[in-house]
Amino acid sequence: MPLPPGVRARDFSDALKQFGEAVGKEWVFSSEEDVSLYRDSFSPFWHEEEDPVPAAAVAPHSVEQVQQVLKVANQYKIPLWTISTGRNLGYGGSAPNISGTVMLDLKRMDRVLDVNEGNASCLVEPGVSYLDLYKYIQAKKIKLWLDPPDPGWGSLVGNTCERGGGYTPMRDHFENHCGMEVVLPNGDVVRTGMGALPAAKTWQQYKYGFGPYLDGIFTQSNFGVVTKMGFWLMPEPEAHITGTVSIPKQEDLPRFIDILSYLINTGAVQGTTRVFGGGGGGGRGGAAGGAGSAAWTTNLPFYGAAKVVAAQWEHAKDKFSEIPGATFRDGESYRFPLSLEQIDKIRNPVSVGIPNLSFFGGRSEGHIFFAPIIPMSGEGVLEATKVFDKAFADLGRPGRSFIFPQSYFPRSFVTIFTFPIEHNVENNRKNRELYKRLVKIAAENGYGEYRTHTAFMEDAMETYSFGNHSLRRTHETIKDALDPNGILAPGKNGIWPKRLRKARA
Ligand SMILES: Cc1cc2nc3c(=O)[nH]c(=O)nc-3n(C[C@H](O)[C@H](O)[C@H](O)COP(=O)(O)OP(=O)(O)OC[C@H]3O[C@@H](n4cnc5c(N)ncnc54)[C@H](O)[C@@H]3O)c2cc1C
Repeated sequence: MPLPPGVRARDFSDALKQFGEAVGKEWVFSSEEDVSLYRDSFSPFWHEEEDPVPAAAVAPHSVEQVQQVLKVANQYKIPLWTISTGRNLGYGGSAPNISGTVMLDLKRMDRVLDVNEGNASCLVEPGVSYLDLYKYIQAKKIKLWLDPPDPGWGSLVGNTCERGGGYTPMRDHFENHCGMEVVLPNGDVVRTGMGALPAAKTWQQYKYGFGPYLDGIFTQSNFGVVTKMGFWLMPEPEAHITGTVSIPKQEDLPRFIDILSYLINTGAVQGTTRVFGGGGGGGRGGAAGGAGSAAWTTNLPFYGAAKVVAAQWEHAKDKFSEIPGATFRDGESYRFPLSLEQIDKIRNPVSVGIPNLSFFGGRSEGHIFFAPIIPMSGEGVLEATKVFDKAFADLGRPGRSFIFPQSYFPRSFVTIFTFPIEHNVENNRKNRELYKRLVKIAAENGYGEYRTHTAFMEDAMETYSFGNHSLRRTHETIKDALDPNGILAPGKNGIWPKRLRKARA
């Protein structure tokens, strides 16, 4: 296995011994067989030198053990990469960005610490997956929903550390977290929001506490190890229905998007929607497949009281009727709770808060995502479509003619392009080159990625350059203050500690 950069073999061996004293030696992994499990199985560097290979992994079981691991890492200046369940496929999987990193694997910290049915919230450790929490809630017959992303085997904490998204009204996962416990690189344990009040009664209810609101700096960063996180859950609604709207004319797309945007911004439509071209493009976002000769189609999700969701769908129809030729189709319709038989037949279980792994059916060697944010407006979508259409044509990949905007987050669309990963070095190289060029072209046109694979974090951060990179300089000022030895994930999200910071042009 590779050594951590700049660390001598003997020191590393001492460090492994001390990790073992901290967590129990059976929870330190350094054999090739064990460590290779932490490599990115969707790596864009398959069979290449640059494919990051960890040096070892250490799996603590408590906050105190995390503190001990950080102490040892500081002593030997060993880089650590934290994972909660390590299922970040498409964005780096369970792997670090640099070979020789030691994985800080928090899967064993898997306790559901609290579920508050009355106030619809919970507090969990990092190793709790969406599937775990769902099982816990079902076993206790609690009438709350969680909001899973497509694959249910990941963790609420890891997904939220990446600012991921799902499908129900609680789909913006960072927005719906409430309170964190974080171990800083120096071992200090910080609780954010009301958690800083030792006798707090509202840690999972009121987010902001007192003074600067810090939670954001522990997401998409390398400033701390999150050991607990609170979330708002959704009280089981009475009903969920979907309705499909299609329009016949290409040129009505801007109006179509503007109406959709109005319905989302007024809260009439509450889950993730996706706009796609007629005749195809179902899949992600809960869309129900193409609609015959329609030019454009979208699927609208509604959640709440049965009478209210019916009225919201009617309201949506009224709005879209402004567009000549608009047609409407009733989609799924559920009253809760569901029977097991009904659950088995649901086409898109995540849209009713049921985590699953069906999204992986039939997938091949993997993929990475290119995920820029674009405006949620008719004009904005048209412009982005032209930009990416031209970009793909100029880069020798014509034919990507529409961008399938999705409403994972409020007030904007994310448009997700998928790049296949192959066990073919040449093809992966070409795709990486294409990806890097797209990041630049997107930024030149005002679109930035919301999240990216570890291989492209430097490229993405480079584009957030306002004020001569004042944002990155601020990140790195915080990094140096909190992590002077630069032990936590150096380079993650383009944030380097002083001792490893490369000269930048
Ligand atoms: C087919 C497919 C569909 C997908 N669909 C979605 C989707 O709908 N929505 C979505 O959001 N994602 C989606 N993903 C991406 C990914 O699978 C999920 O986001 C997944 O939940 C992330 O894995 P995880 O929860 O195990 O996080 P982890 O891998 O544990 O963590 C992700 C990263 O967060 C940081 N981190 C994790 N834990 C901590 C911690 N305790 N303290 C500090 N930092 C930490 C680390 O940098 C880590 O690498 C999809 C992926 C695939 C392959």
